[in-house]
Amino acid sequence: MKELTTDIAAKIIDGKKVSLFIQDELKKQVEEIKSNGGKVPHLCAILVGNDGGSETYVAAKIKACENIGYKSSMYRFDDKVTEADLIKKVDEINNDSDIDGLIVQLPLPKHIDVDKVTNYIKPEKDVDGFHPVNLGKLLLGLPTYVSATPFGIMQLLRFYNIETAGKHCVVLGRSNIVGTPLSILMSRNRDPGNATVTLCHSKTKKLKEITLQADIIIAALGIPEFLKGDMVKEGAVIIDVGTTRVPATDTKSGWRLKGDVDFDAVAPKASFITPVPGGVGPMTIAGLLANTMKSAKKEIYK
Ligand code: NAP
Repeated sequence: MKELTTDIAAKIIDGKKVSLFIQDELKKQVEEIKSNGGKVPHLCAILVGNDGGSETYVAAKIKACENIGYKSSMYRFDDKVTEADLIKKVDEINNDSDIDGLIVQLPLPKHIDVDKVTNYIKPEKDVDGFHPVNLGKLLLGLPTYVSATPFGIMQLLRFYNIETAGKHCVVLGRSNIVGTPLSILMSRNRDPGNATVTLCHSKTKKLKEITLQADIIIAALGIPEFLKGDMVKEGAVIIDVGTTRVPATDTKSGWRLKGDVDFDAVAPKASFITPVPGGVGPMTIAGLLANTMKSAKKEIYK
């Protein structure tokens, strides 16, 4: 992995590299399935509206499927689509035996109840791991589809042999898709895991006192450069989940991605740190593809 010799003391965690490694492993599995005459995994996406970010994410997921030999399909709806029509499509896909995994790209337009649509996806095909049944299994430590971002972070910790047992892990942010599942994964009796976890949120008091005690900090707030150098102890492991688009005059798009960590101030103190972009972000595709393979192989639901 990338070594740095500059004033940045930390090892930079290369999410792109780890993601490609996992995708390469999955590609080998597809080749094996094909040579045995089996059915290749099939991921289906539903995209609603014309949100630029959503278009990019879905395109990247479909391209990744092509690269590793999965079948993919996509259904597009304009942003006036009714909830009933969307659910009808989900139902159709639920009953299509060729499709192993279904993702409904978020966000959805305001008139659509996201939970209602997500909960309609059969847990067997919920490769995003957002369904209450799959989140419930995660809580109980049962085999399930771990949602892509928490999956990606646990894989990064594993690939870089970062010790988590007995460490104090501070998670900033308690969303259902990132902070809360991570707090469970980090605290359970597995490797990586066995950490003592503090889950922080907007009502947490004396946050700096807490982060200064952390061996591992996972920042998932959506507030650019929230975690400053003076909030981190020497040698801490820093995982930056934040991806906020901030205006930029020097990029073609007019924006750039900023993480929740003040990278320049924190990196010299950290032992490991994820950059933004190139850290956690690329791992989410690997997570989604890994879950789709698990579905195709009926590893979670027989
Ligand atoms: P979210 O639903 O926006 O929730 C943010 C969380 O941060 C909430 O729990 C909130 O507390 C907490 N928070 C806000 N201000 C805080 C403060 N001052 N101190 C402590 N906690 C505070 O979060 P999300 O969906 O998990 O997204 C977080 C970030 O990760 C966003 O930038 C998002 O774009 C990014 N993200 C990246 C990936 C990736 O692939 N890299 C994937 C998913 C998300 P309350 O609960 O009290 O409001």
